[in-house]
Amino acid sequence: MRAVKLVGPGTIGLEDVPVPEPGPGEVRIRIGGAGLCHSDLHVLDAGELWPVFGFTIGHEGSGWVDALGPDVEGFAEGDPVIVMLIWSCGRCRACRQGRDNACQVTGSRDAAPTTPGLGPDGSMADYQIVPARFLEPLGGLDPVTSAPLADAALTPMHAINSARRHLASGSTAVVIGLGGLGHLGLQILAATSGARLIALDVDEVKLDAARRHGADLALRSDADAVGRILDLTDGYGADAVFDFVGAQATVDVATGVVAPEGAIRFVGLGGGTFSYGATAFGPLPWGVDVQSSYGGTRADFVEVLALARAGKVGVDTVRYPLDQVTVAIDDLRAGRVAGRAVLVP
Ligand code: NAD
Ligand code: ZN
Ligand code: ZN
Repeated sequence: MRAVKLVGPGTIGLEDVPVPEPGPGEVRIRIGGAGLCHSDLHVLDAGELWPVFGFTIGHEGSGWVDALGPDVEGFAEGDPVIVMLIWSCGRCRACRQGRDNACQVTGSRDAAPTTPGLGPDGSMADYQIVPARFLEPLGGLDPVTSAPLADAALTPMHAINSARRHLASGSTAVVIGLGGLGHLGLQILAATSGARLIALDVDEVKLDAARRHGADLALRSDADAVGRILDLTDGYGADAVFDFVGAQATVDVATGVVAPEGAIRFVGLGGGTFSYGATAFGPLPWGVDVQSSYGGTRADFVEVLALARAGKVGVDTVRYPLDQVTVAIDDLRAGRVAGRAVLVP
């Protein structure tokens, strides 16, 4: 079968490898679609700093059950399924409290929990082996175009759920970066919150899509953005800011517009920073709750899949054949993907 391997620092290759056999408790999935995340570009850009090589990339996968290993119950050949982003132990204190994205056994203070396609073989291949407990049934959702729900919808769902108390009717939420994650984050906010939604991007195509996806206002993310958002909120600021870029320019917007007692969720990994001082004078108003946000929990996943099945959240997909992966990467890097690129074996 074909698999897209991270063969060395900053280098991928489409390789021919044996079709893997599922072991005890495992399932072989015939991949229908595999999402391409901006994090895959960060992995390539990390070069020699990335610690492991030789695995199949792709951490958003969906498809059909193809073969069951020994001792697997609850699935049958042909079932449409989606692969979970976070492979947690299920037994540690964090997992048992429902915080499986902070698993103490497969993750640590320094490392996120295990994720397929960032260590174990992922979804950019004809087939993938997955422990059965890391599968969710898709129900009526499409096994090709649903793959991005595994991360691009799960991750915003988690960031939004962690800021729920800031999103009541009358509040204002700002969504920065309307790519794979942001266009889904916006839909989740529109479906599940009472907040007025202000969307920011640097690309007009993304801003147009944001208006369709529930943004009350879609604004260019430029030097005027902070002033415009403060004007729109009578100088008070936004109750919640979701930054799906994380570049210096967007970190500056997030810290520059957040309201007193508001929330910032940093999801994008663009390398921006801000300094915090335990003083009465900034850089943040009193009481602001700042979190970096990693992936999501199983409960977040179940919730966002239900939103998708109900037709309240849908992925804008751009399909590429699996062997066109480098074209998809180039398009994502150049900002030409409206929504999420999905590789189809
Ligand atoms: P993407 O490339 O699909 O989308 C990025 C969007 O940001 C694009 O629409 C782009 O036009 C826009 N943008 C770029 N600069 C901007 C600016 N200055 N202001 C406003 N918008 C701007 O990327 P993605 O796959 O959605 O991922 C977004 C980020 O989130 C990446 O850094 C990725 O690595 C990260 N990520 C984090 C997690 C997590 O768990 N924390 C999970 C998945 C992805
Ligand atoms: Zn990702
Ligand atoms: Zn655990």
